Amino acid sequence: MLRGRTKTLEKDPAEIICAACGASAARELANYCLVCGKTLEEDYQPLDSLRSSYRLQGRGYLLENTEGPQSQDLFAINRNSVAETAWASCVYSMVPYIGVVFVPFTLVASVLGMGVAVRRPEAGGGKMSLASFGLSFAVTGIQVFLWWLLYIVPELARPV
Ligand SMILES: [Zn+2]
Repeated sequence: MLRGRTKTLEKDPAEIICAACGASAARELANYCLVCGKTLEEDYQPLDSLRSSYRLQGRGYLLENTEGPQSQDLFAINRNSVAETAWASCVYSMVPYIGVVFVPFTLVASVLGMGVAVRRPEAGGGKMSLASFGLSFAVTGIQVFLWWLLYIVPELARPV
């Protein structure tokens, strides 16, 4: 970027107009607009009037500067993959009737997940495994009740 503007030295300061907000420069050699802070050498660029009105000239865009905090959180949560599997299997087992297939798998995976949580406490996931293990029993109860209903309803409909 050119700092020394030799071509415009003889110009009247009032003739140097800010491309973003339209204010005239205070000094002949001014580099930045006094009102909004835009570099006076630049032409109008997209979003300039918006950036000027929010006093964002000369600052980086937020998207460029911020590092996504979500990516780090994802790693923190996903370190015990066995517990994640147990939880996923537990959610699948909540599907009426056919979900009962997942119950044994949930029990095995949650026990393995608790083992991982005990052996590597920094991995976490112990609570998740425990929740999957406990929920599996409630799910089993509800599933058995649903299957029982499926067989008892035709019995009830049969004329005596
Ligand atoms: Zn300006």
